[in-house]
Amino acid sequence: MQRDHIPAEVKRAVLVEAGHRCAIPTCRATTTEIAHIDPWAKSNDNSFENLIALCPNCHTRFDQKKEIDQQSIRMYKQNLSILNNRYGEFERRLFEILAKSGERVFVVGVGGDILVANAVKDGFFEDKHVEGMWLEIVGDNGYQKKFPMSFTFWVTDAGVEFIRRYASGVDISS
Ligand SMILES: [Zn+2]
Repeated sequence: MQRDHIPAEVKRAVLVEAGHRCAIPTCRATTTEIAHIDPWAKSNDNSFENLIALCPNCHTRFDQKKEIDQQSIRMYKQNLSILNNRYGEFERRLFEILAKSGERVFVVGVGGDILVANAVKDGFFEDKHVEGMWLEIVGDNGYQKKFPMSFTFWVTDAGVEFIRRYASGVDISS
């Protein structure tokens, strides 16, 4: 089998897993290559489990310069799969943004409570119930309800720790 004969559907799955970005959380560059976690020459393994999306720069730092070790790359791969299974796209982007900014408070608009519901359930974000704007719906039949137009969330200590672990490629499974 040739090195470059990675089946198209496997390539696609590896790119989708990483959101068509470099799998390293602090990088996330949009130019991607497919890298072998266990080197092809040694493993002859073109399976999904042995492949990860990296940008050319991180690929070189891993493959050639050995600045990023195999253990770390395995952890990035494992964390990706956990994140993809447990959190939505919005939450994953939020983790990245918060990892970079270090912010402890953020405001989201209508429906924002739904978009971060999994992270709230896991105790990473907490609704501070800050008074903002409300949308009042009044129906002909006497139905009346107020919906918040914005939500203010606090990143809990557990959230800060989770984001730190995710960004630095430490196991997030526990
Ligand atoms: Zn990268």
